Amino acid sequence: MNLTLTDQQSEFDTEVRAWLTAHAPTEPLPDVDSDEGFEAHRLWEKTLAQAGLAGVGWPAEHGGRGYGRELTWVFSRAYAESGAPERLNHVGLNLSGPTIMERGTTEQQTRWLPGILDASDIWAQALSEPESGSDLASLRTSARRDGDEFVLRGSKIWTTLGTRADRIYTLARTSGEGPGPAGLTVFAVDAHAPGLVRHGIRQMDGRTDFAELFFDDVRVSAEDVIGAVDDGWSVVMTTLGFERGSVTNSSAGLRRRYDEVVAIARERGRANDPVVLDRLARAYVDVELYRIQSLRNITLDSQGSLAYEESMAKIIWSETGAAMTRLGEEILGPAAGARRGAGAGDDWSRRAWYVRAGAIYGGTNEVQRNIIAERALGLPREPKGRR
Ligand SMILES: Cc1cc2nc3c(=O)[nH]c(=O)nc-3n(C[C@H](O)[C@H](O)[C@H](O)COP(=O)(O)OP(=O)(O)OC[C@H]3O[C@@H](n4cnc5c(N)ncnc54)[C@H](O)[C@@H]3O)c2cc1C
Repeated sequence: MNLTLTDQQSEFDTEVRAWLTAHAPTEPLPDVDSDEGFEAHRLWEKTLAQAGLAGVGWPAEHGGRGYGRELTWVFSRAYAESGAPERLNHVGLNLSGPTIMERGTTEQQTRWLPGILDASDIWAQALSEPESGSDLASLRTSARRDGDEFVLRGSKIWTTLGTRADRIYTLARTSGEGPGPAGLTVFAVDAHAPGLVRHGIRQMDGRTDFAELFFDDVRVSAEDVIGAVDDGWSVVMTTLGFERGSVTNSSAGLRRRYDEVVAIARERGRANDPVVLDRLARAYVDVELYRIQSLRNITLDSQGSLAYEESMAKIIWSETGAAMTRLGEEILGPAAGARRGAGAGDDWSRRAWYVRAGAIYGGTNEVQRNIIAERALGLPREPKGRR
């Protein structure tokens, strides 16, 4: 993608910015981790959907605008720069929705996609288990066939929005003993199904939107299997491909964070401190590097030749975000807890706790480095089967 916008991109950019100026809440919404805040964020998603801005990259036949990655990037940039509320249905819109379009049946698309687009149904993704994170194929949750249903038994952990979601995209073993990717199946489980117990986990930053889920003989209709039975690994690979792609949309968010740190340094009389300047200069270079890498990835993606570059972008994004947030927190000192960010409850101390997670979710940075080592540098493949 070019650094300068085409006429069509400029026009859309202007439309989005004007709409956000007119409609985005001027005050932060209540914390998404509260009942009130969750519903306020859902309502905001509905407002976006009514304006045709909830899923600009979704095909027109499913209610989107059918825009490719370039215009989606234009939207994400305008959105991040406007400071509008954080998006609630990230999993539904960016991961399970596109997976259903590619791997689901027509009936599933009709049944689920409208509710994702207008945020009537918030989705969560429950893949990780207590003993299976990076090594996901070792998972142990089982799904036994019983007529037209499957009976799920096992537990999942670290499910973002797991306590509040309406539907859970999950992966379970339908045949064989494992470990390994064979015999796995993807299910879209009604979050209120009998036998599904959801516990919130309080995190270092105080939020409880993480959950551990216990499937205690949860019955799921065979109609809620996404893709073929025993072919869940390839379905999940489709989903994780979308996950990596969605990370690179947030370069404007990183730039916004950088501008905030510069403002803090100025306010606190630290803008001429050589140590602060050194770290700011490093951050500026990394933010620009990330922006250019994101644009390059969009081009490579449109040519079908993305290989390890999304791993590079993920590492730069998460490590730059963490370094800048820590710098902001250090300059603020004890005042960090009182310094508000874009949303309610989004203060700098909380951010500094949360930002550590960027190196873990979406595939840990160590695993991304393995990918770069093998695919970009041609180093020997990692020995498998030891863990
Ligand atoms: C904020 C946040 C949100 C999350 N949301 C979700 C969610 O919604 N749904 C979901 O299913 N999961 C979610 N996760 C879980 C996340 O996907 C896992 O934490 C991640 O995959 C790592 O798995 P693990 O925690 O089991 O660590 P492990 O895989 O046990 O890794 C432990 C350490 O070993 C390293 N390591 C592991 N394997 C290798 C290797 N082959 N080579 C080198 N180093 C290695 C890791 O990098 C890590 O440092 C979330 C996590 C976080 C922090």
